[in-house]
Amino acid sequence: MDHFQSEGYALALHGGAGTLLKEEMTAAREQEHRLALARAAKAGQRVLEANGSALDAAVAACKVLEDEPLFNAGKGAVYTNEGKHELDASLMEGAERKAGAVSGVQHIANPIELCRLVMESEFVMMEGAGAEAFAKEQGIRFVENDYFDTSYRKLQLEEARAAGSVQLDHSDKRHKYGTVGVVARDRNGNLAAATSTGGMTNKQFRRIGDSALIGSGTWADNRSCALSTTGYGEFFIRSAVAARVAASVEFGVRSLGEACDWILNDEVLPLGGDGGMVAIDLHGNVVMPFNSSGMYRAWVLDGKPVNTAIFRGDHVVHE
Ligand code: ASP
Repeated sequence: MDHFQSEGYALALHGGAGTLLKEEMTAAREQEHRLALARAAKAGQRVLEANGSALDAAVAACKVLEDEPLFNAGKGAVYTNEGKHELDASLMEGAERKAGAVSGVQHIANPIELCRLVMESEFVMMEGAGAEAFAKEQGIRFVENDYFDTSYRKLQLEEARAAGSVQLDHSDKRHKYGTVGVVARDRNGNLAAATSTGGMTNKQFRRIGDSALIGSGTWADNRSCALSTTGYGEFFIRSAVAARVAASVEFGVRSLGEACDWILNDEVLPLGGDGGMVAIDLHGNVVMPFNSSGMYRAWVLDGKPVNTAIFRGDHVVHE
């Protein structure tokens, strides 16, 4: 697993643990994904380099990924069974463990910005129409639901429907996790984590995934670590992934890398789930484990250039 350490700031992000299959990954597609990941990491780095907070950096990088149609968050979100988009997102900071989360929003261009506002309110989580009523009061950017449309995701929905899958778009051959997530540690040692997604293709019944759930998809606590997950959400919820990794680190049971490896391979996998995560601990250790074939990811350490990777051992430095 990738493991780096930084005395100063550090940031790591993912664009989902379900990459294109290796044989579908043309040089042009690979480059397109890498540049988008690098752009997001640079947006976060700019904040951290100017001594900004981990929270601001995580939100800035997450917004770039939401605006990028290649990933399943914001523009480019997957389709529900009804051919619409319902977005989940969550955000947490590690100093006071303030958190904000939204689920099933349909008209918010950048759900992570709404999470920030929820975090600053007296509540932690808002859902659907209620979250949007709050967003309206706050003057956040609204869009029509078709703003999130892309032809690529439409095709995925048609494939899922044709396969008669009433459940989630998931098969051994094609894992379609495109959720985005960011973790950051600033020069003051504060941690933050952000996660944003359209969920799973062909989802029904207002299904809510792990990305909306503090303690499952997202966690940040300066006493242990910050995490953002991607994968088959049901299994991540049932494993309370983010909170249990953090507890394991906090109580000195495992190092960050060991804890992530344990939760993915000994807890999530036996239930039938796969995916990955980006995580950073209070000492600035950064890990990015996954048990899928690949995971879109990028990371940057204090004063250093941004790196991207998609499969294993294919790091590229972006000067
Ligand atoms: N974890 C997300 C969900 O289950 C999917 C993803 O990671 O792309 O909603």
